[in-house]
Amino acid sequence: MSKVIIIGAGGVGNVVAHKCAQQAGTFTDIILASRRESKCKDIADSIKQSIGVVIRTAQVDADKVPELTRLLKAEKPFLVINVALPYQDLTIMDACLAAGVHYLDTANYEPLDTAKFEYKWQWAYQDKFKQAGLTALLGSGFDPGATNVFTSYLAKHYFDEIQTLDIIDVNGGDHGYPFATNFNPEINIREVSAECRHWENKQFVTTPAMSKKASFTCPDGVGTYNIYRMYHEELESLSRHYPSLKRAQFWMSFSDNYLKHLEVLENVGMTSIEAVEYEGQKIVPIQLLAKLLPDPSTLGSRTKGKTCIGTVVQGLKDGQRKIMYCYQISDHESCYSEVQSQAISYTTGVPAMIGAKLMLEKQWLAPGVFNMEQFDPDPFMAAMTAYGLPWKVVELDDFSLDNLNLNDVNLDEQAST
Ligand code: NDP
Repeated sequence: MSKVIIIGAGGVGNVVAHKCAQQAGTFTDIILASRRESKCKDIADSIKQSIGVVIRTAQVDADKVPELTRLLKAEKPFLVINVALPYQDLTIMDACLAAGVHYLDTANYEPLDTAKFEYKWQWAYQDKFKQAGLTALLGSGFDPGATNVFTSYLAKHYFDEIQTLDIIDVNGGDHGYPFATNFNPEINIREVSAECRHWENKQFVTTPAMSKKASFTCPDGVGTYNIYRMYHEELESLSRHYPSLKRAQFWMSFSDNYLKHLEVLENVGMTSIEAVEYEGQKIVPIQLLAKLLPDPSTLGSRTKGKTCIGTVVQGLKDGQRKIMYCYQISDHESCYSEVQSQAISYTTGVPAMIGAKLMLEKQWLAPGVFNMEQFDPDPFMAAMTAYGLPWKVVELDDFSLDNLNLNDVNLDEQAST
């Protein structure tokens, strides 16, 4: 049985639908469902035109468990690929349990009225999924997703013990707009304006948003970028599953222009998630802002440049200190020419398809709720290369660390003991 229902016809949903359709031997029946079926139909038409595969579409409001359960019971898919918004994670998990369907997503649950994303809500489903004999695979995008697997791959093949982790996400792309976000604006702005948390000495340490900056020179000529430390959800699962980690940090590149706009928007209250009353109507400023900003799924045709996302891990092998870097570089224009999408949606959608494929093939299938690093990384890494996201692993010495400007990241601070 290889029927899947993809929920969410946004930028990422477009890529997942294209990539699953390209693997029609594995995904024999694909349904794309969203709040607005018209968006699903546009994507289905584009897939039919570009690769000649027919996918079906459906309308569903995934906030409504009974409505979604009805669809799942009627269609009986093997798996739901959830690429709607993080707000829908729990309702979709509930519907999957009610209908006996496996579950996969790319972002952890976040309550609509609190900008706080944590795994605790989804980890609480562990017993329910276990008892139902179903798998919930959490965070099968790039970060989280590929970055979790890069970490587990390095831990498996290069180290006896991993001690520090730095996940570095550089987007060297330019879409030509003064300000736009590469994925859902509301989720993106909530994420980058949140307080920073990083893992240090067995606990999370909180610092103000964007208060730690470094300069990072990407490999293979991608360029040098300012990166800022911020909180990202994979730090929570990786610090839990790798208790030997003494420090784990997440870094993302931002241009001065992006940060200048964000600061002004924050200062005038446009990023607030608290509703305000305007002429008798309740308006949530961040939702209005999201409406005004360019739709991320329209950025593809105008974005040029590359992404470079990877993990730097330090640890011990045979008693010796070692530093390994695993990274993936994608080109925005190449992604667009393949699936009419920029690289951020592409690098999220391909790992979602790969996670789904490994579940369908029962390579990554066990009862319960799982993060990506809990399964064998090898088949995932092989599939990344096969399906459009080739990666490299290099060993760094202190000299090459200096050349990458990673020394700003203070990697030596707490290396080997
Ligand atoms: P978009 O806003 O482009 O798309 C989200 C889609 O979800 C929209 O088409 C929307 O519906 C649909 N949707 C929203 N609410 C509902 C609902 N109640 N019922 C049914 N459908 C709904 O977002 P992106 O494609 O940019 O992002 C999708 C997901 O991917 C997000 O959760 C995001 O956090 C995650 N992500 C993960 C990354 C990673 O590396 N792990 C990186 C980037 C994104 P409609 O348009 O039909 O109204």
